[in-house]
Amino acid sequence: METTTHIGVVIRLRPLLPDEISSGHINSRINCDLLNQQITLSSPDMRQYKRFQFDQILDETVSQDEVFEKCNLELLIKKVIEGFNATIFAYGQTGSGKTFTMEGYQYDNSLKPIIKNDENIGITPRIIKALFNEIQAAPSHVEHTVYCTFIQIYKEKIYDLLNPAQLKAGNLGLKLRWNKQEEFYVENLCVHPCYSPQEVLSHYHAGLKNKIMAAHNLNSTSSRSHCLLSLTIEAVDTESGGILTSKLQLVDLAGSERVSLTGNEGLALKESIEINKSLFTLRQVITTLSNIKEGDGAHVPYRDSKLTSLLKQSIGGNSFCLMVACLAASDNYYEENLSTLAYASKAI
Ligand code: ADP
Ligand code: MG
Repeated sequence: METTTHIGVVIRLRPLLPDEISSGHINSRINCDLLNQQITLSSPDMRQYKRFQFDQILDETVSQDEVFEKCNLELLIKKVIEGFNATIFAYGQTGSGKTFTMEGYQYDNSLKPIIKNDENIGITPRIIKALFNEIQAAPSHVEHTVYCTFIQIYKEKIYDLLNPAQLKAGNLGLKLRWNKQEEFYVENLCVHPCYSPQEVLSHYHAGLKNKIMAAHNLNSTSSRSHCLLSLTIEAVDTESGGILTSKLQLVDLAGSERVSLTGNEGLALKESIEINKSLFTLRQVITTLSNIKEGDGAHVPYRDSKLTSLLKQSIGGNSFCLMVACLAASDNYYEENLSTLAYASKAI
């Protein structure tokens, strides 16, 4: 079995939003070269530019459907069914399109996702459906169970999005533990066995609703926390008795905006530092992984944050990782876009 991590990095540029257009935002500094998968960002005085190369550049015109296709997610799911672990995460400043990319939902008054047509849904619900299509195509002597958990990490504390009782103010969060297989796990976390895409989706939707409620209870905004949906796929071969397990994690990261830009003080400053710490550790982990040569034995600092501890299994050796780095196509976000491109370019 291969031991290297396969890290793919794609850039997704979101279009200017109607209220940005009406308040005079323009995009004159970002240039996408879709033929060569390069993106160029010019400095505010237009005298300098930086050019970056990635696996894919998805410009403003790319639909949710095309994101799935261009990121080769069908193939990624096949790998997961074969037994590989995988992680997909969205990175970028608040407002750059991470949640749109991962979720793609709009909500009604009771915080239920409005799903009129499937056109705008994001990566996660598409993955859930595609995963079960793949499961259905498996030989009948292989029985699959998908175990689903959904957590939020806020200020280095872990909250269970599938357990609303957990999301009250004053809660200290769940404990991170270490098992015999040298894997991290969250103690007392609700784990739901699922046998259909509808079951996973109903837990996912319940978790998203809890995420919005929690933001209120914990006096946070969801842009300041990381959300991890984990799907552990267990395949039991009823003929041979063999069991194959793989893990797929779908992550909507906290906004990557810098402390200085948000002008935070006191509590908010502490919050920003803690959030930046896990994003910083994530970068260290990815950079180390992408530079590891076979048998290298390099130290990967998974333990330095809750986020990276929990991603260890599905990001390290023998797994497939996709980073979708999100940019907002407005000159007003030059600094943030530059910092996102610099972060993403460390991963390849
Ligand atoms: P983030 O999660 O990074 O804070 P959101 O996903 O909430 O950002 O996106 C911010 C706003 O931009 C939302 O109103 C969202 O609907 C819109 N948006 C994001 N990406 C796109 C896109 N590719 N096309 C159209 N609208 C988008
Ligand atoms: Mg978001």
